Amino acid sequence: MLSLPILYCKRTSVIVKKCCKMKRFLLLYGSQSGQAQSIAESICQQAHGYGYFADLHCLSETDKYNLKNENDPLVIVVSTTGVGDPPDNAIKFVKEIKLQNLPADCFAHLRYAVLALGDSGYSMFCNCGKTIDKRLQELGAQHFYDTGLADEVTGSEAVVDPWICGLWEALKKENASEVCISLTNGNENCDIKVVANDENVLKLSDINTELQLLTLAETEQPLQNKEVDKQPSEPSLTASVSPLSQSALSVPSLPPAYLEVNFVENTFQESELHPVTSDNAVFQVPVTKAREITRADAVKTALLLELDISETSISYQPGDTFSVVCPNSACEVEELLERLRLTDKRDLCVSLQLKKDTKKRGAQVPLHVPKDNTLHFLLTWCLEIRAIPKKAFLRALVEHTTIASEKRRLQELCSKEGASDFNAYIRDCNTCVLDLLRAFPSCQPPLSILLEHLPKLQARSYSAASSTLYHPGKLHFVFNIVEFPWFSRKGVCTGWLQELVTPLLQNEKTEARIETNLTLFPKMSIFVRESHAFRLPEDHSVPIVMVGPGTGVAPFIGFLQHREELRKQMKDSKFGETWLFFGCRHHDRDYFFREDLERFVENGTLNQLKVCFSRDLPVDGQIQPKYVQDNIVLCSEDIIRILTVERGHIYICGDGKNMAKDVRSAFIEIFVKHCKGDQLDAMNFLAKLKSEGRYLEDVWS
Ligand code: FAD
Repeated sequence: MLSLPILYCKRTSVIVKKCCKMKRFLLLYGSQSGQAQSIAESICQQAHGYGYFADLHCLSETDKYNLKNENDPLVIVVSTTGVGDPPDNAIKFVKEIKLQNLPADCFAHLRYAVLALGDSGYSMFCNCGKTIDKRLQELGAQHFYDTGLADEVTGSEAVVDPWICGLWEALKKENASEVCISLTNGNENCDIKVVANDENVLKLSDINTELQLLTLAETEQPLQNKEVDKQPSEPSLTASVSPLSQSALSVPSLPPAYLEVNFVENTFQESELHPVTSDNAVFQVPVTKAREITRADAVKTALLLELDISETSISYQPGDTFSVVCPNSACEVEELLERLRLTDKRDLCVSLQLKKDTKKRGAQVPLHVPKDNTLHFLLTWCLEIRAIPKKAFLRALVEHTTIASEKRRLQELCSKEGASDFNAYIRDCNTCVLDLLRAFPSCQPPLSILLEHLPKLQARSYSAASSTLYHPGKLHFVFNIVEFPWFSRKGVCTGWLQELVTPLLQNEKTEARIETNLTLFPKMSIFVRESHAFRLPEDHSVPIVMVGPGTGVAPFIGFLQHREELRKQMKDSKFGETWLFFGCRHHDRDYFFREDLERFVENGTLNQLKVCFSRDLPVDGQIQPKYVQDNIVLCSEDIIRILTVERGHIYICGDGKNMAKDVRSAFIEIFVKHCKGDQLDAMNFLAKLKSEGRYLEDVWS
């Protein structure tokens, strides 16, 4: 099979060898986890086939582009991180376009499109993309294509793929330019020049798609016939059923390889190596306590950890979050090394270079693969080996798979026709590269493919569950151990944390002598990412309503410890009414922090504690509220009073997939009832509270 961009067209017996003078557009990305970058790179690769040259840069590379003089269309792909924050490499750009002294028409010449990535579990969904979009408009720029808002919760590909398809159409309308195509027919060469108006570019892209269909259909047909009598009845990761198994496929074009890997002798000790984390300072801190705060029969196991930060310059406020630098599972790293036939190279340093002849535009050695590190170190600390492979990664794996049926299945999974199988067996199952290598034994990719496609191993965030007024020099946090029952595996970070603190958990159970020498405790690396949004009101007399089921209660334990201490220190001050809505499954199994919460109620720090249990049987046949939102509705009069008369603040923390939405709906319901308005009025009221910083969410999925 011929590989693109050399296109073979049977019908005309012509090979389209190259296109030059392609129409340029500027493509900028801002990316925290690497997803926006990889989407931008994919746009860049596809651009070629549609007759465009994408001039790709990171938003932070301000020396490589200048929007004030930019005459070609601009495309921005940007994610959102934290609580509506720009990714680190977009902060400067956002700051600069927000400068108030910019002339109102300074981008009047710009035509642009934005693809914003986000997670609707968070309150400020796609905020960075929306902010850039709004500001460019304010400065006179105009859309040539509608903004795309891709949601991680529902699967960003559902928006990203069609958005990219539509982009070519929109660019076509925006452009016209001269294109030179070299044609080869047998030994004859000829160059033709065409004006790349809408029609011609369309034809070029159509040929591209048609050819892929044609070549695949041709190569796959005999295989399908051979295997027709052992067709499986149920689809799975490795098996497809008709009609997909019989269908012609449109697969994405092969992403150009761009990395060359060499191994060199290692001169470093593993302890001298450091993963790339962020711009924030990283501290190694001892874990001085670990306690299981759920009973053994609870549905989820939650742990409380105490870190000693007394010997660091870390400072935090209740409501802040911090990040844990975690490694991949040691067993998975060893298995991956073995599967890649690289066990003998595990302790050699990996030297990366760009392939000299790479076709990838804007190719760069990935920043999250630091120089002079051993292969073992890179797989352990730098690459998210559990990441769900993107379709481009699957496409690259096809090239390194020898058994025809395995090759075909990988093609299906990355094809347009196989989109629902991709969602079912890759995305929704959290399938990772190791799962693929186990499932497709003839797939033997070189290391370079993994380095090209695996994103950065992200540090995991946790909310501080303590106040330094109550626990000086300490930082507490709580988390559920994430379990993937179908793979019998645990979350990368929570699984690792559990192993790290196993000796402490055993000591806690046996009430062993408490160690005082900090050097003997297990250590972990953390950094603080300050957020000033999710904080107690500066004025203590302002009432607060906190909603935090499960581990979502963490920041509120910090709030309450803080308030408890302030009340002791400021005896004459007025403190606003304080409410907490907490929920868990069972009163006896996972009502954690019960003693602390009861103490807060007893000493007046907490005025109202509303707790519900979603799986306990009704008491005396009385139906009880099950979820925090049920209690919120029951207390609607007080909540309305606190919000409207006393201008109180509402805080919501925890699961962003369901809880935050259900709680939002409960508030809307009570606003409708009490404000005697309709749904729209209630939503406007909620939006007003948000804009005043009085409805604050800190939610995660
Ligand atoms: P990973 O290996 O990253 O796996 C997580 C993936 O598994 C996700 O795709 C998720 O959708 C999926 N998943 C989650 N649970 C299950 C399950 N039971 N079965 C199958 N799939 C599942 N977490 C806390 O526990 N406490 C906190 O205080 C806290 N604060 C946070 C604050 C912020 C600002 C953010 C962004 C997140 C916070 N989190 C908190 C979430 C935390 O960062 C991690 O995502 C979580 O601990 C899982 O990490 P992991 O590496 O173990 O899981």
